[in-house]
Amino acid sequence: MNILILGSGGREHTFAWKLAQSKKLSKLFVAPGNAGTDNIATNVPIGVNDFQEIKKLVLKENIQLVVVGPEDPLVNGIHDFFLADADIKNIAVIGPEKLAATLEGSKEFAKEFMMRHQIPTAQYKSFTLETVEDGFKFLEQLSPPYVLKADGLAAGKGVVILNDLDDAKNELKSMLVDKKFGSASATVVIEEFLDGIELSVFVLTDGDSYKVLPTAKDYKRIGEGDTGLNTGGMGAISPVPFANKAFMDKIEQRIVKPTVEGLKKDNMPYKGFIFIGLIKVGDDPKVIEYNVRMGDPETEVVLPRIQNDMVDLLKAVADQKLAEIELQLDERTATTVMTVSGGYPGSYEKGKEITGIESIKDSLVFHAGTTLKEGKVVTNGGRVMAITSFGSDFKRALSKSYENVEKLSFVGMNYRKDLGFDL
Ligand code: AMP
Repeated sequence: MNILILGSGGREHTFAWKLAQSKKLSKLFVAPGNAGTDNIATNVPIGVNDFQEIKKLVLKENIQLVVVGPEDPLVNGIHDFFLADADIKNIAVIGPEKLAATLEGSKEFAKEFMMRHQIPTAQYKSFTLETVEDGFKFLEQLSPPYVLKADGLAAGKGVVILNDLDDAKNELKSMLVDKKFGSASATVVIEEFLDGIELSVFVLTDGDSYKVLPTAKDYKRIGEGDTGLNTGGMGAISPVPFANKAFMDKIEQRIVKPTVEGLKKDNMPYKGFIFIGLIKVGDDPKVIEYNVRMGDPETEVVLPRIQNDMVDLLKAVADQKLAEIELQLDERTATTVMTVSGGYPGSYEKGKEITGIESIKDSLVFHAGTTLKEGKVVTNGGRVMAITSFGSDFKRALSKSYENVEKLSFVGMNYRKDLGFDL
């Protein structure tokens, strides 16, 4: 089977690494890819939203399955684009159609979906420019902290949590009236603050049956002790130690099942990964968000723990035969530590040579923002390289990751040294 992966991050390198282990794989392409995928696949310089060029590549290289890494092309309707074109409609696309992708593309849509299917989540109300005054009144009725969410995709910056009522009102005004996030904040969801510890659950579904993949916890803030600005993710741990069987059963019964059944009832075909962001409030899971693809860096710890052949799994999704597959997991803990460019998530420089990669032992190296320049691996983004390790528990796995991270070097390299501090 010839397979194309769309994307260029650590997530896509991990998918490439996992797919490359399958005997059923013939040729693997990544568009646009990075220096890591270049080692195990053919990188093609096509953007993930350039559907026409993707179509040409698929036909030229006889690609039979496309794995969509990031959310953008899904929200833009890449799956529908394939289905609507007689030349490519039989090619399997892993990732939902546009309507279901709206679960990530619109917070209000996701909230309405959860309400309709009685899936536990924070209470909320949504507001637009016409109802901004009602929004102020609603905020006055709530107690702090105030959670305001731009409805649309805002590059991970659309959620603002504030302690002060006046600040919250100003933020609402700036989103709705001053269009802080452009059309993404034409609608704003204001919701109840949920107090608890976060985790993520990943589900693979063929639209009919599903598999609950390993849980993971990621570390979003740049600074130690979860301080400072949000990033794309500074590291992750899988499984999440506090997600015991009783808690996982609640997640499956109250959230995963109703989600997959809800998609079916609402006539939203879904073949792909669902990433469910949760908060554990007391002993109960509540949904904070859906993403319609795998997370990054969670993929770097979730996929290495899946022992099944990845081509088999994805083909079963495409053929709606997932029910026939038994999921096999590595029981060990996997951790990943993300190295980032100096200055990230603010401004940073690119093109710094990365050394020490070849001296890494007993860990997996997943490239994120890297590229090749005159035969050398250089930095090409904020998040640069993730080092994934296994251990009998998260502390052992992490110490291996850190030992190997220290062998890496590039000008300005930074990483969080306290992952797992809250576990
Ligand atoms: P989201 O983009 O919806 O995942 O939100 C980003 C982050 O904001 C989450 O990872 C949580 O840390 C936080 N967050 C979102 N919604 C809530 C909520 N209702 N209560 C508390 N924290 C929240």
